[in-house]
Amino acid sequence: MSIGNAIAGARAGMQKSRDARELAEHQTCTRCGWTGNPEKKAPGTMGKEIALWILVFPVGILYSIWRMVFKREQCPECNGTQFVPAGSVYAATIRKTFGRTWPGELSAEQRRARKGGAL
Ligand SMILES: [Zn+2]
Repeated sequence: MSIGNAIAGARAGMQKSRDARELAEHQTCTRCGWTGNPEKKAPGTMGKEIALWILVFPVGILYSIWRMVFKREQCPECNGTQFVPAGSVYAATIRKTFGRTWPGELSAEQRRARKGGAL
């Protein structure tokens, strides 16, 4: 094994661990396979909240409290609220089901294409 091979191997290893770390910090949506960092969103709508405050004041307060208390992480693509850690085997299966990939799952060839500015 030459020094060049050793360096290439170490680089590949480092890339792999970075991908694993990125995956560990992200979530995969179980409904559409989207992977990323979901934002916390309040349920319901601001329009309804304002309307209730104006029309039925006490209900408006309850509605506002409900929205604050039940803030949850939501998928930006399908509004799904069920997530699994992106690094899990289950998440990889979900992404495969929906035909989605994550950088950690790209083949060496795809990775090269990406580096070459394909994206
Ligand atoms: Zn989704």
